[in-house]
Amino acid sequence: MKDYIFADNAATTKLDNDAFEAMKPYLLDEYGNASQPYFFSKSAKAALKAARQTIASCINADEDEIYFTSCGTESNNWAIKGSAFADAEKHATVTSSIEHHAILNTCASIEKLGYPVVYLPVDYYGIVNVKTLEEHLTNKTRLVSIMMANNEIGTIQPIKELCDTAHKFGTLFHTDAVQAVGHIPIDVKKLGVDMLSSSAHKFNGPKGIGFLYVKKGTPLASLIDGGAQEHGMRAGTENIASIVAMATALKINCEQIEENEKHIRSLEKIIIDGLNESGIDYIRNGSNNRIPGNVSLSFKGKDGEAILHRMDLMGIAISTGSACDSVNTQISHVLKAINLHEEYALGTVRISLGKDNTEEETEKIVKNLVKIIK
Ligand code: PLP
Repeated sequence: MKDYIFADNAATTKLDNDAFEAMKPYLLDEYGNASQPYFFSKSAKAALKAARQTIASCINADEDEIYFTSCGTESNNWAIKGSAFADAEKHATVTSSIEHHAILNTCASIEKLGYPVVYLPVDYYGIVNVKTLEEHLTNKTRLVSIMMANNEIGTIQPIKELCDTAHKFGTLFHTDAVQAVGHIPIDVKKLGVDMLSSSAHKFNGPKGIGFLYVKKGTPLASLIDGGAQEHGMRAGTENIASIVAMATALKINCEQIEENEKHIRSLEKIIIDGLNESGIDYIRNGSNNRIPGNVSLSFKGKDGEAILHRMDLMGIAISTGSACDSVNTQISHVLKAINLHEEYALGTVRISLGKDNTEEETEKIVKNLVKIIK
């Protein structure tokens, strides 16, 4: 895999070396169960506390507002189902039509249980309008869940404004920040959100570990019953090694957030300049306020799936905005929601650049992309 170029950082990221080193002792030597009272578990318990403090400080939360989960999907399930099951009065949820399936399928699942869900439209840039949200809120709305940054087109939502609007109706606000944490500065106190989901493998931590921020006092039912871990709210022996690695990776990314963004934005420019010089007919999707590294491109009259496979043959991993089944090519729900014309939507690919990508790699990406399109 030495010369293979990985440009699908929105799907996952490379584990940071320091994060890998940080997790090793807890797998090999200090493998105690943090719940046990004896000396051997002392370091596991201390590591768990330190990791919680580190993560809390990266998003300006308090230590006891961070709950470890197995991934972003679990955090999203917990926020939506847990808040529904905790409130007998307010049934309704409001979300957007461009959420990740970890939200959309969770909403579909509570709908089957009788909890109504409203799916808000977005504009051409993928933005949820604050006024539209307001029009759909009632005193029966329990939760608004709007993602911080979209995984396909990168659009960053006006979270503070949306959250303030929800609070005017006494409604809780959750944000799926899986694409945003570690990539843009986040201050949960300034934003005012009640819950925030995150996943380590999107910010150079390991796969299979995440967290949910829950503001103190937020009504939330536990979904996983068992032992008393995570303040009795999420049972199961803690994955100390991965939690430590997640905290290490997040701290590193947050400390380097500005320099990473500068580097990644300069890589984005290489792609856009290369495409502009080529004269190819394309659209860059999303709003100008987008997550660093997201370059969602739609090529008129082309086939995104075919572009992906040709790029793969050239040793470059990117993603697409459509998925082929055996009969049809399906345009993603996000591209449908932004009303992208079908002749562009079918030719959509997502390049997502990360801090480890180089200028040389990015030049290769755009050179090969132009060759394939032409
Ligand atoms: N939410 C968003 C916006 C995502 O992009 C993803 C993963 O792609 C998830 C949730 C799911 O996270 P995980 O892979 O940790 O379950």
